[in-house]
Amino acid sequence: MARLSRRTWMATMGAGAVAASAEGTTMGAQSGGKQAAATRGQLPLVEFEPRSMLVVPETKVEKSKFPVIDFHTHLSWSPGPADKASDGGKMVPTAELSEIVPVMDRRNIKLLVNVTGGSGTCLDQSLDLFQKRHPDRFAVFTEPSWWNIKQPNYPQWQGDEIQKARKKGAKGLKILKTLGLYLRENITQGDLVKVDDKRFDPMWEAAGANKMPVIIHVSDPEAFFLPIDRFNERYEELHAHPDWSFHGNFPSNKELHEARNRVVARHPSTQFVLAHIGDSENLAWVGEWLEKYPNMHVEFGARIGELGRQPRTARKFFEKYQDRILFGTDAVPRGDEYPQQVYGDELYRIYYRFLETEDEYFDYSPARVPPQGRWRIYGLGLPESILRKVYHDNAARLLGM
Ligand SMILES: [Zn+2]
Repeated sequence: MARLSRRTWMATMGAGAVAASAEGTTMGAQSGGKQAAATRGQLPLVEFEPRSMLVVPETKVEKSKFPVIDFHTHLSWSPGPADKASDGGKMVPTAELSEIVPVMDRRNIKLLVNVTGGSGTCLDQSLDLFQKRHPDRFAVFTEPSWWNIKQPNYPQWQGDEIQKARKKGAKGLKILKTLGLYLRENITQGDLVKVDDKRFDPMWEAAGANKMPVIIHVSDPEAFFLPIDRFNERYEELHAHPDWSFHGNFPSNKELHEARNRVVARHPSTQFVLAHIGDSENLAWVGEWLEKYPNMHVEFGARIGELGRQPRTARKFFEKYQDRILFGTDAVPRGDEYPQQVYGDELYRIYYRFLETEDEYFDYSPARVPPQGRWRIYGLGLPESILRKVYHDNAARLLGM
């Protein structure tokens, strides 16, 4: 039998007048036209903030079970690739140390990796501010100088720069999705430069030779490559950040990942860490890559929203690849535009709850509305043996600690 709606049931029972008066009472108790619209079924999506009525355990995890290495944070920015003055430019810290360190102490964070340390003088400044002052609490990674790509000697020069950065103290190399989605032959114009362009081979080799893990971000959620329409599950996120859309004249998600895989295959003695788990919506596909490339690892920054809505698949993934998964958050201090990534106590509480408990249907981000998509997540309840590796040991091994 088809389920009756409340309205149909009322009518069937000849209770239309009761229904009208009940709705009238509710409306009277609420204020304004918005509520009137809501009761007519016309509540705008942006105003919809449903509260879960489930009565289920809510575990507060104030400290992680083991000391944490957060492999993916942005504690400073460097001027972008289009800015040719970058090498003479200034590093921009995203917060004061006095804001960062107390959170680390309260949340049992041993070390933060600031992946966007930049190059040249920006790298020097980032090393001075973070790693040299607190070598046991911070690791700084370097970045390529894309704006030099037109120089005839660029490939070898870039390789040499990586080695120089290592000598100064940089612990790894970060590749933003600039490569593959933004960087063009004439920096901002012309054809997109491919992720597996041979000009970067000396750079990948130098990273391997200098024992610098490469954290690489290519592509983005599949929905970013689709039209921003009513079928798009990240409609609100893309609506808030239309510049995050790669729908149209861009390589596909598949092409980007395949190009990156060719790089990983070509440089077997370089350790690659895929930011955001590579493709967090398709863990079976990521599993195939991990089987194929022993020098590949993943970190899950800004993707517990994806993992936590497929908790059974995610838990199996963590069990199977427990030696290849690194803890990461993609945290940005004061990054208020991305509530799922704002560095602070609440962010880490949510990550720990997700990894350690079997709590059900909770928010993956401290935000009014789930910012990456309208769903909630389920904890993985990982055993201590896996937590120890994911929180700490896997990253420590790659960092040579
Ligand atoms: Zn990031």
